[in-house]
Order: sequence, then C-alpha cells, then structure tokens
Amino acid sequence: MQKIQKIYTTLMNSYGPQGWWPLTPKGSTKTIHHQGPPVTDTHRFEIMLGAILTQNTAWTNVEKALEQLHTNKLVSPNQLLQTNKNKLAKLIRSAGYYNQKAERLKIISNFIKDHTIKTLLSLNKDILRNILLEIKGIGPETADSILLYAFEKPSFVIDTYTKRIFSRIGICEKNIAYDDLQKMFEQNLNKNLTTYQEYHALIVELAKQHCKTKPICNNCPIQRMCEKNV
Ligand code: SF4
Repeated sequence: MQKIQKIYTTLMNSYGPQGWWPLTPKGSTKTIHHQGPPVTDTHRFEIMLGAILTQNTAWTNVEKALEQLHTNKLVSPNQLLQTNKNKLAKLIRSAGYYNQKAERLKIISNFIKDHTIKTLLSLNKDILRNILLEIKGIGPETADSILLYAFEKPSFVIDTYTKRIFSRIGICEKNIAYDDLQKMFEQNLNKNLTTYQEYHALIVELAKQHCKTKPICNNCPIQRMCEKNV
C-alpha cells in the first residue's frame, strides 16, 4: 500500500522533522524536542517515565509532571524507589491517574534496576517487547513507545490518533486491532528507525493541527488522499 509511504512523505514535507521524543536537557527541568538519539541512560529512563505518564492524558500535562520529577531529582530508578509513593503521586498529579501512575513508575524503576539499560539494549526487539508487555501497566502502545524512542528499536507505535486518522483516510476500520494496524505500517514502510520515530510524531502533529475530534479538513496536508470517513 503505497499510500502509507506517500502520506509519510507529504507530512514530512509539510511539518518537517519533529525531533521526538521530547527530552529535558542537562541542567534544565523543561522538555524540548531534539534531533538525534537519546545519548544517556537518564534520557532513556526519562522516556520510559514519559511513556507511562502520557497514558490517557495530553503531553502538556506530562511536561508538568516531568518538571516536578526533575526539580526533585527523581529521574533515576534508585531515587524514585526511595521516594514515598504518596509524595510521588502528588508530584505527578498533573498527569492524572496519579496513584496508579506512581505505582507504575516504581514498577518500571524496579525493572530497570534489576535488568539494567545496557542489558536491555542488547536484546532483540521482539524479545524485549514481550518482556515489556509482561510488566504490570505496560500495554502495546507504551511498550512500543519505549522500544522506539528509549531503546531505538523499530517498533511502530499505534495510538488513538493513528486509528482515528487512518480510518478517516479510508485505510483501516475504526475498530481495527492494535497489532493489525501496526502490521500494516510495518509491512508498507522500510524498517527504518528514523522513519518510524518521525512518522508517529507527524501523526500526532496532524491530529493536533487538523485531524481533531472535529476535523479541520481545510488546508490539511493530506486532504487529497483522504476519504474523510468522519
Ligand atoms: S482531510 Fe480531514 S479527515 Fe482527512 S486527515 Fe485531514 S483533517 Fe483528517
């Protein structure tokens, strides 16, 4: 299906590289979009925290929670594990479901402490994906975000925006299963890390600018390729 590739090219030409995942530079508490891979283990860990914090909430709410974690020097598995769960929940309150998410941040911290980022990086993508999916509170979207951005392994991320946009375009059904839509992307794109990273980020940008709950089709960059099944 050449359309999937064509949409990627069109979105890239319209919006340009997105530089995902947004990360916090050393000495700062605010995330910025950056180019290039996460270079430190702290960055990789921050991406894992962000992938959990963003469950069922907008990124702007996650930014505030991450800022609190940085201000309190908690972007480290050891520091997080030593922090009282109620205190942690208060710090990440802006991200919603804060008690549940505080527990999940502790679970992922334990996981990283037990396995180490270096060991996990050396694993094959499918093996690592299965390991991540066994962790309480990590579903396919969170696992794939962690794989793609923290461990730089090409696993295409499907989210609500992806299903919304590609069903409106006419490429899939509204209620397509996660794995089926992921397969569709992976079979129709070159297995390239940057392409997967950028494509997901561009989909999010399209959803924010045009393909909202109520779409603004006027000037949408992929309007001519879309069946507008709204
Ligand atoms: S043309 Fe409209 S429905 Fe289609 S992707 Fe763009 S905003 Fe969404």
